[in-house]
Amino acid sequence: MTNFSELNISESTQNSLKRMGFEEATPIQEGTITFGMEGRDIIGQAQTGTGKTAAFGIPIIEKIDTSNPAVQALVIAPTRELAIQVSEEIYKIGYGKRARILSVYGGQEIGRQIRALRNNPQIVVGTPGRILDHINRKTLKLSGVQTLVLDEADEMLNMGFIEDINTILASVPEERQTLLFSATMPGPIRKIAETFMKNPEMVKIKSKEMTVENIDQYFVKAHESEKFDVLTRLLNVHQPELAIVFGRTKRRVDELSHALSIRGYLAEGIHGDLTQAKRMSVLRQFKENKIDVLVATDVAARGLDISGVTHVYNFDIPQDPESYVHRIGRTGRAGKSGMAITFVTPREMGYLRIVEETTKKRMTPLRPPSSDEALIGQQRVAVAQLTEVIEKNELSDYSQLAAELLEKFDANDLVAAAIKSLTREPDGTPVSITEERPLPMRRTSSRDRGGYKGNRGGGSRSFGGGRGQGGGGSRRSGGRDGSRRDGNRSRSSKYDR
Ligand code: ADP
Ligand code: MG
Repeated sequence: MTNFSELNISESTQNSLKRMGFEEATPIQEGTITFGMEGRDIIGQAQTGTGKTAAFGIPIIEKIDTSNPAVQALVIAPTRELAIQVSEEIYKIGYGKRARILSVYGGQEIGRQIRALRNNPQIVVGTPGRILDHINRKTLKLSGVQTLVLDEADEMLNMGFIEDINTILASVPEERQTLLFSATMPGPIRKIAETFMKNPEMVKIKSKEMTVENIDQYFVKAHESEKFDVLTRLLNVHQPELAIVFGRTKRRVDELSHALSIRGYLAEGIHGDLTQAKRMSVLRQFKENKIDVLVATDVAARGLDISGVTHVYNFDIPQDPESYVHRIGRTGRAGKSGMAITFVTPREMGYLRIVEETTKKRMTPLRPPSSDEALIGQQRVAVAQLTEVIEKNELSDYSQLAAELLEKFDANDLVAAAIKSLTREPDGTPVSITEERPLPMRRTSSRDRGGYKGNRGGGSRSFGGGRGQGGGGSRRSGGRDGSRRDGNRSRSSKYDR
């Protein structure tokens, strides 16, 4: 581990980093900061949560000329949350230097952004669509840009932003530094790198952090109509401290979070159709432990800085193995162990095998708990609660009442009643979850597997249709409209945010 003081970083930035609680550079930071400050192009590949923001944020801050009013650095990020998160982190890194930074993203009033752009920000962080919008309106001038960053490039590819990015790249001076950060490096991203980058330094932090070593991985085979009951039983047996449930579509997330709330869980959903304020407040509640279960789409949860997750439930199996790794990577962080449970319908077993091939780890089959087992799980929790209260030994205020009750009732009945009242009993409150079409059937012959790899990014119809191709157009027509009629088609999830 390298200390930041060994990296030739200015004193004011070092002070900011200290204030942020950063002591040592993470491997990706160690590998990229020096090249970044030298003005080299960089391709940085490392898993989510490894500190990629500061890896480009520090060189940006170091290079900004605060006496120059032009936009000198442009950072493109896939979602509003990430744009905000990145701009906040760069703001903190640049605190001592007082560089002006602005984030622009869809969903925020454009007039306000236009006014803010007139105040000459030196660093702009934004989502592709909104950046392009400002370029077209001539409210964002990029002729002074010296550093361009593509953050979470693979995710931008998944969301169909490639064309937008190409257009933006063409509007930025050629004499510039380009930094590309991504968790994975699919073909089309490599192609962008080849086209737009000059002799890039490749920094890849691999596998140690990419693996899912300390995560126990299970799968549960269940029919679509059984999944919700299985989920609630598992929640009752596992008693997760902090859980994320992943659903395939926005509607799925809404229905699941609603259904869980009806059944008495502290659950909230997060996906791209919620207002910015709502999403931030849900995330805050989750971080502050005010909700137990976060229900999310892939994209909404991707890249967000959430720690302490003990259980990940893949209510719907993800379409591609990389999403799986990202989803379950939400747990088992910082050396702690985590548990990941993937629901799979009988038709989708082929996908499970593909995931296993990618992670090189078999998932353990988990029998769905019966309702009795779920009840026993809850009763154990109740007994543990009682025991804890007794051990605290602060019962003097209650002993009089206890004596009175013991005169009237049998001691065994009393304790049983106490346990019963602390137990969450199986709750049959009706909920409604729309059935999701299973992913298209996959067979697991080796030829077929090869086909999967070949299909990546190729948009083969056999894989949910249109994957990775023509995303630009369909994204606009469908992605922002959660209520579209075919919202249950698997492809719609690709365009959710
Ligand atoms: P990534 O972009 O790779 O997913 P982030 O840049 O969002 O990761 O960083 C993940 C978390 O780690 C953030 O909370 C960030 O503030 C923190 N972090 C980054 N670098 C360091 C460091 N050197 N020391 C301590 N914490 C760090
Ligand atoms: Mg990031």
